[in-house]
Amino acid sequence: EDDFEDREDFLFKILLVGDSAVGKSNLLSRFTKNEFDPDSKSTIGVEFATKIVQVEDKIIKAQIWDTAGQERYNSVTTSYYRGAVGALVVYDITIHQSFENVNKWINEVIENSNPNILLLLVGNKIDLEDTRQVTTEEAKTFAEERNLAFIETSALASTNVDQAFISILKRILKFAK
Ligand code: GDP
Ligand code: MG
Repeated sequence: EDDFEDREDFLFKILLVGDSAVGKSNLLSRFTKNEFDPDSKSTIGVEFATKIVQVEDKIIKAQIWDTAGQERYNSVTTSYYRGAVGALVVYDITIHQSFENVNKWINEVIENSNPNILLLLVGNKIDLEDTRQVTTEEAKTFAEERNLAFIETSALASTNVDQAFISILKRILKFAK
């Protein structure tokens, strides 16, 4: 179609969840602005960022929600989760505790959004291979047990970031069509 600019077939609300400092805000800025902030402090102000993407023959507005650092105080509000159709559950491959906390985040998402929400497990910071604490195998096994899609990324090196967002959008689209 030549009216690509005005067309919008779907609006999908996607969440970023996971422990503080795993790289959620940088995954979002890498995907929506192709930017990385090495000294990012807690995100202030921005509730979500949007990106228009074409997936197959559909134009999708991805509305991606980021916390403003409330995860540090376990105070992510229920309105954050409401209406979401997908979530990236992020851990830091160099901090094993952030991987152990993934279960808690998944439960929180399912309880507060909807039980059919599509989840993607994301192991971020794979540029830091030397200090890795979570093996790919360990995460893959966990993902299979929980029936989750799984990907490893680096917001810093721009590895698999687009793929992560696009793959969850594709799966959501399959159910929305
Ligand atoms: P958030 O609290 O989950 O939103 O995490 P941020 O996006 O604020 O990132 C926390 C810290 O990790 C910042 O210092 C980032 O620069 C850094 N960071 C984020 N993603 C990566 C990555 O892929 N690789 C490396 N080496 N550092 C990252
Ligand atoms: Mg953040």
